[in-house]
Amino acid sequence: LYSTSSRARHREVISAKNASVNAFVSVSEPSSSHVSRDGSKGLPLSGLTVAIKDNIATSQMSTTCSSAMLQNFTSPFDATVVELLIQNGVDIIGKTNCDEFGMGSLNVHSVHGPVKNPLGLFQDPPEERSAGGSSGGSAAAVAAGMCDAALGTDTGGSVRLPASYCGIVGLKPSYGLISRWGVVSYADSLDCVGVLASNVEVTQRVFERIAAHDTNDPTSAPQAIRYKARQQVEELFPSASTSTPSSKPTDDTSILKRLRIGIPQEYFPAELSSTILDQLRTLIHTLQIRGGATIVPVSLPTTAYALSSYYVLASAEASSNLARYDGVRYGSYEAPGPETDLTKTSSVYARTRSVNFGKEVKKRILLGTYALSADAFDNYFLQAQRIRQLIKNDFDRVFRIPNFFSDQTHQNTRDTNTETSQPKVDVLLHPSAIRTAPLLSDSESESADSLSAYVQDVLTVPASLGGLPALSVPMGVSGKEGFRWPVGASIVGQWGTDELVLAVGRAVE
Ligand code: GLN
Repeated sequence: LYSTSSRARHREVISAKNASVNAFVSVSEPSSSHVSRDGSKGLPLSGLTVAIKDNIATSQMSTTCSSAMLQNFTSPFDATVVELLIQNGVDIIGKTNCDEFGMGSLNVHSVHGPVKNPLGLFQDPPEERSAGGSSGGSAAAVAAGMCDAALGTDTGGSVRLPASYCGIVGLKPSYGLISRWGVVSYADSLDCVGVLASNVEVTQRVFERIAAHDTNDPTSAPQAIRYKARQQVEELFPSASTSTPSSKPTDDTSILKRLRIGIPQEYFPAELSSTILDQLRTLIHTLQIRGGATIVPVSLPTTAYALSSYYVLASAEASSNLARYDGVRYGSYEAPGPETDLTKTSSVYARTRSVNFGKEVKKRILLGTYALSADAFDNYFLQAQRIRQLIKNDFDRVFRIPNFFSDQTHQNTRDTNTETSQPKVDVLLHPSAIRTAPLLSDSESESADSLSAYVQDVLTVPASLGGLPALSVPMGVSGKEGFRWPVGASIVGQWGTDELVLAVGRAVE
């Protein structure tokens, strides 16, 4: 009755490996409406099995956000992205582990326990390393061969970092291209649904089907703007937006000949491992010598402040978004204890929230609430917003394609100012992470010290603050020298140039 091939194979791998990898927190029933019937053959994504991060709503399986707070929660509806996947013939194979509400970089803050990087588990001798976070389950599921692709969410790097640690491809699209309806909010102004797969082609096929305007999401980009953005790319690179990349392999390299790639000098911090630097150098050399791309050093001076700005803004938005989990409207209600003062509603809420939120989430709520308080607002929240604007201006100054949402006169004024003007580029290229996947034992102790855990996001948060498309593609995993822990190269483009970023990704992989 059901088409069996890849679904059956993936279910077998899940049965064999999930107990050790811990990527899936639920697996769908083969007979559920999330699994396509024979009738869906011939649809654009027929036969593809896709896993969904557990902070994206599904009506057939629970949506826990890896939190005790939502352990018993099943959404009455499917998120728009899930609906679109089903309409396109996908088998939704299950829900994947993540950091609680998407907060973390190592997938160790989860009520379901940490995700183990499958690349290390099946080595001899085996090594327990982090799969990265917060979409660690989605990345591990793809890397372990448990599904063809997975959806994750990326607020400050949560798709790109685990993709880099697990040696797969991860796309954070331009903000607003994929609907957030049914995606549990962490920080709305930054949250994006992203796609993870083992190559750029599958990533793009899934992305093209789910990037659609949705009236249920007020921040979803309108049709006209999407169209204009594609046109701008089309004018500069006529072959970039082809939707059948595999049939035209030569197009990717011909794009390189006209491409100006910016290397942002601020993306090489002292913490960057030297082997990663060597791998990036080799990649740049190949793109330049063999591909004919023009390499341009560029400067994005506000980068140094991106991490601080991100953690203030993301925590502020989180503190507001997470207010709904009070045990009454949402969340597991905790019966009052003997010490609870029943004359105060707030103490009932407090008990529910103290028992059910994890440590990291509580830390973010406290940080965010403080940043929004009357005393701190100007010094923290407003300053962080100003930095965010400066970061956007930095990007707009270096990209040849103008930003739809920026004040054009402002961009032009900057251009004529000789001190700040620099050669324009089409995309930026930099390492996705400062290191390869850390040992899980180190990850757990590191997470106790927020600062060193937060530093890992230093290369991914700027594109998030800018709302820009960013794609992580594994580099240098040729296998010639035996196994080497992978790391990704990130390609970042102007808002709406996702097709161009993907085309460059195909040339890089
Ligand atoms: N590690 C970052 C954070 O904890 C990013 C998380 C994400 O992108 N969801 O906020």
